[in-house]
Amino acid sequence: GTKVDFLPSGDRRLTVLSGPSGVGKSTVVAEIRRAHPEVWLSVSVTTRRPRPGEVNGLHYFFVDGAEFDRLVEAGELLEWAEFAGNRYGTPRAAVLDKLAAGVPTLLEIDLEGARQVRRTMPDALLVFLAPPSWEELEKRLRGRGTEPEDVIARRLEAGRIEMAAEQEFDLTLVNTDVKDVCHRLIALMTDPLGVTTTT
Ligand code: 5GP
Repeated sequence: GTKVDFLPSGDRRLTVLSGPSGVGKSTVVAEIRRAHPEVWLSVSVTTRRPRPGEVNGLHYFFVDGAEFDRLVEAGELLEWAEFAGNRYGTPRAAVLDKLAAGVPTLLEIDLEGARQVRRTMPDALLVFLAPPSWEELEKRLRGRGTEPEDVIARRLEAGRIEMAAEQEFDLTLVNTDVKDVCHRLIALMTDPLGVTTTT
């Protein structure tokens, strides 16, 4: 068959991984961080407090509200959104540098952020991570069953709305197995022709 060489620098597409909360995005990202150093993972800025085990500069850049405001006003964020009372954003310069150098680049962000990337970087590949079934997502959103019924009802309603966002994405990966999802995602991102199709 035809021998395909590497893409020239700068021709990489930005890839965005998003999906409903509770679908397992962070597990997929952890596996990519562990097993796929050929992909560059953007490190977001957030006003949320670090969780145990989270490292500043690796999982997030942890900043206060004033610093986040400054970044927004200076135009240093490619996109940003508020999620559960905290703000999260993608530093623009690092992403553009990596893309210009031809490095496959991945953002793991919420649905609102993905919509902004769709508008500002129309060439980006938007990947929706879906649960194996609505029942599975519902189970995860219900959690351990210790939440009051009205809290659970609100989560389920939010989950239904988030699932409807799938149609805005270029393609869907179903999160049945984390290694399988990573394998498919990496194939999409590193395919030299950028023509891989997934169903
Ligand atoms: P967590 O607080 O659990 O780490 O993340 C909460 C949500 O924020 C997740 O849905 C995650 O995808 C999203 N998120 C993380 N970084 C960014 C970012 O830079 N921009 C946007 N829009 N969402 C982000």
